[in-house]
Amino acid sequence: MIDSAIINFLEEIKIIQFVAFYKAGNNGVRLPSYQGSTFRGVFGHVFKDVACTCPKGKFGEIIHQENCPYAYIFETRSQSDMNNLLGTEEIPRPFIISPENSNQQYFAPNERFSVRITLFGKSINYIHYFLYVLFHIGNKGFGKGKQQAELRQVFLVNENGDFQNQIYSNHKMEQNFTIINSKNIIQPVKDTSAIRAHFITPTRLKFNGHYTDTPEFHIVLRSAVRRITSLLYYHHDQRILDIDFKKLFKNAEEVKLVQSDVEWYDWERYSNRQKERMKLGGIVGKAIYEGDLEPFIPWLQLAEWTHIGKNTTFGLGKIKVVFE
Ligand SMILES: [Zn+2]
Repeated sequence: MIDSAIINFLEEIKIIQFVAFYKAGNNGVRLPSYQGSTFRGVFGHVFKDVACTCPKGKFGEIIHQENCPYAYIFETRSQSDMNNLLGTEEIPRPFIISPENSNQQYFAPNERFSVRITLFGKSINYIHYFLYVLFHIGNKGFGKGKQQAELRQVFLVNENGDFQNQIYSNHKMEQNFTIINSKNIIQPVKDTSAIRAHFITPTRLKFNGHYTDTPEFHIVLRSAVRRITSLLYYHHDQRILDIDFKKLFKNAEEVKLVQSDVEWYDWERYSNRQKERMKLGGIVGKAIYEGDLEPFIPWLQLAEWTHIGKNTTFGLGKIKVVFE
């Protein structure tokens, strides 16, 4: 049995997900090979323009105020130290921007392309900013040469992954949004003796300070636990429960990786901030695990929504877990 306190704790997570469809403008739109990073970049710039009205300091630096939506979403800072076994991890951003069409880089005039956004916790209060920014980045243009595209439709996604209702069309925004009920994500599973995990986008799992290309179960689980607990802590004001993580991780070490069909996928992104190319590789493929998986199921079910590993804000670390 899974401790009901853990289930209650995990059910506090608040998630909303939507997919925005654009129509490429008269010159078409060409995107680089990993689009998540492009979307993330332009998104941050435009978000700052529309949402940050903070004063500047002596050296021209922006002094973000406490209520600045941009500062909260893109530069979340800690009010207090996260004092638990997870250590001094970097603070997660409360959003994921996932590309939907990574294999296609050129979109002809009038062709559609889309981007998927997931928001967590308090960032859901700023959903109107996100929609407004989505509209704006289309006008401003994507990629090199500022290729314009028109935001046509935005659909909410429900807990089954189906499109639910349209929240934007014809310059009109919906005022009410139903968030995903995490009770519907965390569901009992009949057979908990084997699972198959699919690493859909490059998943950057770090263990003992190194990136690994062997997705041992406990490494996957540790990553999921770290991700979910820190989202709950920083973006839902949830204190970390008094969970025996050591025991949880120890039990996870007993789960066997019986088949690993993963490869290391390297991609490069140009960082405007650091003015250099960065390599952001991770594993893609699938792995099969066997053992007593029951205690880990809620964590894995949520991890499908939160992603795992590093650089999740551009859509890396997307996983699907199939219960065999
Ligand atoms: Zn600001």
